[in-house]
Amino acid sequence: MATNTKQELFKNIPSVDRLLMSRSLKDVSAAYPRTLIIISINQVLDELRSKILKGDIVEKGAMPEIEQVAGLTVKRLALISRPSLKPVINATGVVVHTNLGRSVMAEKVLNKFRALGGGYSNLEYDLERGRRGSRYTHVEGILKELTSAEAAMIVNNNAAAVFIVLDTLAKGREVIISRGQLVEIGGSFRIPDVMQKSGARMVEVGTTNKTHLRDYEEAIGPETALLLKVHTSNFQVVGFTEEVPLSDLAKLGRRFDIPVIEDLGSGCFIDFSNYGLTKEPTVQDSLSSGASLVTFSGDKMLGGPQAGIILGQKVLVDAIKKNQLNRALRIDKLTLLALEETLRIYRDERAAIKEIPTLRMICAPYHAMVKKAERLLKLTGELKGRNFSVESEDGASKVGGGALPLLELPSRLICLKPLRLSSRFIELWLRSYDPPIITKTEKEKIFLDPRTMQEKDLKIVAEAIMNLALLEDASII
Ligand SMILES: *Cc1c(COP(=O)(O)O)cnc(C)c1O
Repeated sequence: MATNTKQELFKNIPSVDRLLMSRSLKDVSAAYPRTLIIISINQVLDELRSKILKGDIVEKGAMPEIEQVAGLTVKRLALISRPSLKPVINATGVVVHTNLGRSVMAEKVLNKFRALGGGYSNLEYDLERGRRGSRYTHVEGILKELTSAEAAMIVNNNAAAVFIVLDTLAKGREVIISRGQLVEIGGSFRIPDVMQKSGARMVEVGTTNKTHLRDYEEAIGPETALLLKVHTSNFQVVGFTEEVPLSDLAKLGRRFDIPVIEDLGSGCFIDFSNYGLTKEPTVQDSLSSGASLVTFSGDKMLGGPQAGIILGQKVLVDAIKKNQLNRALRIDKLTLLALEETLRIYRDERAAIKEIPTLRMICAPYHAMVKKAERLLKLTGELKGRNFSVESEDGASKVGGGALPLLELPSRLICLKPLRLSSRFIELWLRSYDPPIITKTEKEKIFLDPRTMQEKDLKIVAEAIMNLALLEDASII
């Protein structure tokens, strides 16, 4: 077989103009902007060039016909014109999954988006006085009501909350913190780094496993601005350990007139021990133990939108409100609406557990998971083919979001055991599904946890499993 030089092959690549005149591309020319068509053509032609360069195509006869290239371009167009951010099905069993968007908004919140997003609002307008108002007023009242805090303030996220607290109250001065609490939260939030960026000087006390009250006391000096306690959200030190209770730290702070700040991370208003789970300190606990300020996320256990909430003494909150950084860290109106609506649901704890998806998923009992798994298996019916087998198995879900790291929520998982298809293939195939289904692989088995699947997801997941069972072409494995 005669091979051609790369030069000759390049000459055979169709021009952009010829492709634009092809039948396939003419057919779709009204459906896509011209610039996007040209971008797609160039991407497909670039791939053709690199195939020639790599030696994957060595003769003219192996070059695709013009209509074939046009066909590839049409496929590419469909691909690149799709939105990048899209819904996925969380079958991982991690409720507060940071990579999958943490919270699922409550129905009541969703219903309000259209009205507020599609029109003007009194975001920063005082309707009584007919003049400029403050966006923070919309949630200040309800935050104080729910937690008995003296004052409240919100920013873009909890990282911003910690940052602005340090920047306002400790710039150029010292902040005392236990060595056991120098935490790193996923996505590069590290307490020592945040401290440095804010211009506060970190004074570490105690050891990794034990810190005593006297360690804090001995470190207090004229430069001390704050005592900081950080909730070790995503890990636990067990064994020979000791932490100073917040109430003791608060007493010490009062004695020296130094504010005590607690970064709760995943703050919650509800005592989960009433629902059969481990007790996490609530926001109200921190405030009543005497913290001068507490900071926490809106979208971890709280189940609202991404936000950083700061609660506590009015003098401190007022100082934070005056910080110019607020302009850069401020919360957007849609987020504000979502936060206000979520907080309003908390006025009735029972309603909150039912209506806030994060709480509903965390509190869902094992027997409800068994039922949900059964419903899903009923939808798939008897599976054909020998690609994999399906059954349900006991397992555990996680709260996630750096909360209750060791807590396992008993669940009933759907388990796909590979037969003809490999676990890697199954995982990838489900992830490429429309909508993508994100699963958990353990010991070569694929697990789907009903806890984090929404009711509407069950039918889609069942269909995906049925389609996968019928898949015959194993050449893609
Ligand atoms: C998660 C977390 C943060 C960061 O909160 P974001 O809302 O993700 O910005 C800060 N501190 C602690 C202890 C956390 O757990």
